[in-house]
Order: sequence, then C-alpha cells, then structure tokens
Amino acid sequence: MIKRCSWIATLLLVVGAAQAIEESPRPGGVALIELGSATLPPPRVTLNDKPLLVMNRDGLWVAVAGIPLETAPGELPVLVNGREQSITVVGHTYREQRITVENESFVTQSQEQLDRIFRERKIIDGVLGSFRDVPVDGVALAAPINGSRSPSFGYRRYFNDQPRSPHKGMDIAGKTGDPVIAPRAALVAATGDYFFNGNTVLLDHGQGFVTMYCHLSEISVEQGETVNLGDIIGAVGATGRVTGPHLHFGTYLNGTAVDPAIFLPSPASD
Ligand SMILES: [Zn+2]
Repeated sequence: MIKRCSWIATLLLVVGAAQAIEESPRPGGVALIELGSATLPPPRVTLNDKPLLVMNRDGLWVAVAGIPLETAPGELPVLVNGREQSITVVGHTYREQRITVENESFVTQSQEQLDRIFRERKIIDGVLGSFRDVPVDGVALAAPINGSRSPSFGYRRYFNDQPRSPHKGMDIAGKTGDPVIAPRAALVAATGDYFFNGNTVLLDHGQGFVTMYCHLSEISVEQGETVNLGDIIGAVGATGRVTGPHLHFGTYLNGTAVDPAIFLPSPASD
C-alpha cells in the first residue's frame, strides 16, 4: 500500500520536478550565475568562502547561489576561478510572527537541554556545510507532500515575546501519517530525533544542496542510504517544537537556508 502511494505520488509530481527554476536574488533567495560553455571544465565558484553548486544547464555552466537571509541589498561578491564577479541582491522585507507556546521548555532551556541542542546543532550544521562533489543535473524539486503551503519562510519570529531566529523553511499542511516523499534523488545524510525539529531527515542532493524534513511521526530511511524521486522517507507528525502536525520543509544551498518555494512547482490548485 505504501509502495503504491509512492508510485502514484511520483506520477503526479514528476512533471513539476523536471521544470527549471527561476532566480530570485533576494535575501533567502537564489541567484543563477551563467559561467560559459559546458564544453570546458566547470569553474570553481565561491560565495563567502563556500563552494557553490555548478550545474550544466542546456550546455552552459550555471552556478546556483543561496543568498543568506541576513544579506543586505546591493552587490554581493562571488569568486569565479579566483576572479571577482557580483550578484545584485534585491531588498525584501519578511513578515513578523508572534507565537505563544505553553511548554516553557521550548522557550527557556535547562543546561541539559542546551547541551542536547548543541550536539544536535553540530550534526545538522555538519550536513548543511558539507559539499559532496557529484554532478547535479538540476535543482527543481517535487512537492514532498501535497498539502497547502504557508508562505512562512523568513518570518521574523518571537516565541512568548522573545526574539528567535527567523523561520528557515516552509510549513506544509498535512495529517499525522501522511507519507513524505523524496523530492529528487539523494543520499540520506542524517536522521534523528532532535529537540526542536523532532524526528528529522536530511537529504543531500549533491554539491551542498540539502533538504530537511522535520516533526515527522515516522522515519522510513537510514543514514547512508540512497533514495530516488518519489521514495517514501517518513510520515508527517507533530514531534519537536510544534503546535500541531505539519511538515517543516527546509532547503539549503552553500550552507544557507533559502526559500523552498523557489524549487517547487506551482501548487496544482489554490
Ligand atoms: Zn516550520
């Protein structure tokens, strides 16, 4: 039954996954940098000393740069084979979101909890900062579940009136147990039950392109395993710091969180 769901989901979503993405050069967005003919070896491109994903798009090398949320509008330098070039970052104001949570431990943590959070942060940052040098033939993604998507990426958040880091993903509506699929082929980089994120899967799509799935009720894959587009990786849940079941979906390039909406096909309806 699970297998059939996966197959149907793949059929529905594979068309969207084949689309090319459009650039969105704002903080928390993506810039595409054309780098000449792909008959030559791919150039090495870095932003803030981090290597960028470079893919062959219709015979041209194109770097796909994740623009950090905290970037000021204006020129952002990148190095192409050691020579400076720049991306023009356009301004964008993200909304403010105030959340009240009853479990005080999700706002103020004990030393033991802080130690746990620190250990988990190291694992997650290790994956986000990794660069697996394999060819990448695109960055478009299928929707991991078919629920309605909240445009909450980048929200500046306050928990019980205390400022917290901005929301670095997209929340997608779903019911506990709904299957979550891999939105393109990947290596399972890590899985775990984390304090804030609950049951989590991190997928590595190559060259620093990483996707993250949080608050799962179930994890169906193991670290080191490879998955294909449409394979079930887990199920929607409400584990970790949440107010109800949903999927928190994060997308990362060159170690920085970018808006998942950039990679997804437009929703079929609504
Ligand atoms: Zn979220």
